[in-house]
Formats: sequence, C-alpha cells, structure tokens
Amino acid sequence: MPPSVAFLGLGAIGAPMAARLAAAGHPLTVWNRTLAKATASEAAAAGARVATTAREAIAAADVVLTCLPESHDVAALLDEAGLDAFRDGAVLVDCTSGDPATSRAIAARLAARGVAFLDAPVSGGVAGAVAGTLTVMVGGDAATLDRVRPVLAAFAGKVVHCGPTGAGHALKAVNNALLALHVWSTAEGLAAARAAGVDPAIALDVINASSGRSNASMHLFPERVLTGAFPRTFRLALLDKDARIAAGIARDARLPAPTLQLAADLMAVAHRELGDEADHVEAVKVVERWAATELRA
Ligand code: NDP
Repeated sequence: MPPSVAFLGLGAIGAPMAARLAAAGHPLTVWNRTLAKATASEAAAAGARVATTAREAIAAADVVLTCLPESHDVAALLDEAGLDAFRDGAVLVDCTSGDPATSRAIAARLAARGVAFLDAPVSGGVAGAVAGTLTVMVGGDAATLDRVRPVLAAFAGKVVHCGPTGAGHALKAVNNALLALHVWSTAEGLAAARAAGVDPAIALDVINASSGRSNASMHLFPERVLTGAFPRTFRLALLDKDARIAAGIARDARLPAPTLQLAADLMAVAHRELGDEADHVEAVKVVERWAATELRA
C-alpha cells in the first residue's frame, strides 16, 4: 500500500505539487489556509480529500508535506494543530524554502514525539512543479529520505540528500541569493550597455553566447524583461526572505560574505518599493528607475 499523504499549503508552487501527488494516485488529503483554494484545487478535482483544519490533514497521513512562505509559518501551524495530531512514525517533509535554525528546532520537537522531519525545499519554479521535474534538496536522515522518495517522485526530477537537518534550507537560500544577484546584476549590465548605445536584445544575445550568461539572462530576461510581461510565479517577497536567510547563515558562521549581504539589502529595497505582490523578476524595475531607462526590446 502506498503511504497516505497530506499536503498543506496550496500556493503558487504547492498547488501544482499537490496536483502531481493526486495524479500519481497517492491517497491524498489537502489543506489550505484559505479553504476555497483547496476546494477549487486541481488536486481536489483529481480526487484528493479536502481537510478543513490542518490538524485533520496531519492526522490523515503517514507523510505530511508542508509548503508555506517561511519556517515560522510552519512552526506556527504545528503549534496550532498540535503535535499530537501526527500519527506514530509519521514523517513531516517541509518543502518551504525555510531557515535552517527554525528547522532544527522543529525537528527536535517532532523527534520528541516520534515524528521524523526532513527539510526538502524545491527548485525549478511553477513550471517545474507542473511538469514534475523539480529538484528537491533534502536535509535530515538519509534512511528517512529513502522512505519518502516514492512520494517525492511524483513532483521531482532530481532528489539530492544534502546533509543534516537544515542543509536543504541552507542550500536553497544560497541558490536563491545567487538568483537575486543574477537578476540584479544582469539588469545593471543591460542598463550600462544601453547607455553605451547597445540595444538590450543585442546585449542579451551576445551575453547568452558568452561567459556572463545565467538562467536569468537566458530565460527570465528574454521571456519577461524584454517583453514587459511579468507573470507572478515567484513573489519578490519570498526572494527577499531567501536572500536574507543566506546572508544570515554567512553572518552566523562569521564568514565575510559581502555579496550575499548585498543581495539581501537589494532585495529588501526592491520588496519595499514594489510591494508584497510583485514577482521577483520585477526587481529589474528598480534598476530601471535608478538608471532612468527601460530594458524592453
Ligand atoms: P504563495 O505566496 O503563492 O503561497 C503561500 C501559501 O502559504 C498559500 O497557500 C498561503 O495560504 C499559505 N500561507 C501563507 N501564510 C500562511 C500561514 N501563516 N499559515 C498557513 N498557511 C499560510 O507561495 P509559493 O507557493 O510561491 O511558495 C511557497 C514556498 O515555496 C515558499 O517558501 C517559497 O519560497 C517556495 N518556493 C516557491 C517557488 C515558486 O516558484 N513560487 C519556487 C521554489 C520555492 P492562502 O492561500 O490562505 O494565502
């Protein structure tokens, strides 16, 4: 019998992940803070049961997945639901891009209750979730990970054990700080090139055939910045949080990491200027304002 699964947090990326679990035939219960989104979800349409409380969802499953904005949201959710809601021997797989210290605290509380914890943030974006090709970076016990691999396979193309509890969250934060720096520095570079008379489309064409390229220059800029279409797939507020976590990890380890701190500072400024609902790629709009230019083709 496949393990019963619960998925809590049907946001931009959680909803398609849950839909993949339902489509893969896992006995699935879903829960979302705004209940209407759970009722209207693709997972529910594919047969998932909709729980009205987080406690009810947690109690229904051997493997509980969470995908909320931040680790403190997960901790608060567990406080509200009560750790006694978990089945004996259950596993909590937290797909939130969270912070290692809070995850270690959550893991310790759950361990005292006989529940295992894995931090398992994902990369690959909403498109990767829809296609079932996410990369999952996992912190925690390797044998526990092996138990839940068949569940993760519903939405993952690659699952990597990264180290002890918190390792997945640390790596995800570092990855996203790099994303923030790539978006910002590519925008600055294009603005400088434009000031020197180079059209942004031509600049990108050359950069993408040269050593300055990145996923941002190859995909985000041609598809979104040049076209002026900024679909909301990953909120800037969340990238701000990730860059802050990465800078905090370096600071706590007393590592000099000025560019990680710069990423955190720039994302905080952009988040403040553009608000909670802006997409992460819209950070380039701040660069455009500062440079008094537009990067559209
Ligand atoms: P969204 O902002 O789209 O959705 C957030 C989800 O969390 C919603 O279901 C929301 O419920 C719920 N939620 C928010 N606050 C609370 C709370 N205090 N208690 C319970 N539920 C809450 O976020 P995403 O789906 O984009 O991101 C989720 C996580 O995945 C984040 O950590 C993000 O960094 C990460 N991530 C996102 C990616 C993306 O491309 N979007 C890519 C990789 C990682 P409600 O519907 O009620 O608002």
